[in-house]
Amino acid sequence: MEVEYLVRVMFRFDKETVDKPITSQVILEQGVPINILSAHMNQRGGEILAEIDSRSAEKVIKAFREKGVTVDVRRLIEKDDELCVDCGGCVSICPMDALTLDEGRAVTLHEDQCNGVTCGLCVDACPQRALRLIG
Ligand code: SF4
Ligand code: SF4
Repeated sequence: MEVEYLVRVMFRFDKETVDKPITSQVILEQGVPINILSAHMNQRGGEILAEIDSRSAEKVIKAFREKGVTVDVRRLIEKDDELCVDCGGCVSICPMDALTLDEGRAVTLHEDQCNGVTCGLCVDACPQRALRLIG
C-alpha cells in the first residue's frame, strides 16, 4: 500500500516571479491544494513554505520550476553514524528509498532522495534516536 504523507517544500521567488500569480496558477492547473505554512514577500522576492500531499508533490514541484520558481532542497534529516547500529529498522519504512542497507549490512542515508519530502517516518522508527529532523 502506498504511504501518504505531507511533503514540505520551500518555494523561492525572485524579483521576476514575485509579482506573478504563480501559486494560484499552479493550484488551478494541477487541481491540488497547497497548504501554505508561511509566506514572506516583498517587491524584490520572497519565500513560501508549504506542504503538499505526497501523491501530488512531484508534479507541483515541476510546475513551479517550469514557471521560474526555485524549489529549495535543504537537507532536513541527519543521521548520526555513531549512534546508528545498522539494525535496518528505518530502511523499509522510508517511502523514498532514501535509507538503504548495503551488502556489508551498513545503513546509508541518501539525502538527495529525502530532500523536499522529509516525512519524518524514519525518525520515529529508529530505536537509537540516530535520525533527527534538522530543519
Ligand atoms: S524523512 Fe526519513 S523516511 Fe522520510 S523520506 Fe526522508 S529518509 Fe525517508
Ligand atoms: S533504525 Fe536507527 S539504528 Fe537502525 S539502521 Fe536506521 S538509523 Fe541506524
